[in-house]
Amino acid sequence: MNLEDRLKARQGDITKLAVDAIVNPANTSLLGGGGVDGAIHRAAGPELLAECRTIGGCPTGEARLTKGYRLPVRYVIHTVGPIFRGRPEDSRLLAGCYTNSLTLAMDHGIRTIAFPAISCGVYGYPIADACKIAVDTCETFMETYDAPEKVIFMLFSAPDLDIYTRYLASRWG
Ligand code: ADP
Repeated sequence: MNLEDRLKARQGDITKLAVDAIVNPANTSLLGGGGVDGAIHRAAGPELLAECRTIGGCPTGEARLTKGYRLPVRYVIHTVGPIFRGRPEDSRLLAGCYTNSLTLAMDHGIRTIAFPAISCGVYGYPIADACKIAVDTCETFMETYDAPEKVIFMLFSAPDLDIYTRYLASRWG
């Protein structure tokens, strides 16, 4: 399958997606929060929080893996996006979220993975900039390692989906 068919943008609730792993845009405590993080914990059940407590947090830009519990996925990959402040390191940290999540996925034989728009909610990252980083970083990883089989960008709103769809289309011409 070519890269065009392996990187897809869709609209909806990431907690409903039956893939091998979904990515949770967590905070450094990994103890839950609002937005997608809260929705993932609610859908997964209290066992997810119990496992997260054993991890002891996660630095910004890194990723940690847990089981999926009551979610229709085998794993949840928790990653901590940067709070957008317009610093040069913002983009490096955001790219790190994608690369480190994909590395964990590869190490665990995950073939299909879904990302929300990390940092684009309360963390304030402009969606168009974040979209380029997400797509470019995943594309480079997949070209380098030929894994995972499929990446889904799961966008909550129609305008966000539109930004991703247009950027993906511009990549393949
Ligand atoms: P962050 O703290 O990293 O900014 P948020 O959870 O606040 O994370 O938001 C990240 C993005 O996920 C936002 O664009 C938000 O609209 C979107 N979002 C919120 N709930 C869901 C959901 N259930 N599924 C997919 N995306 C969601």
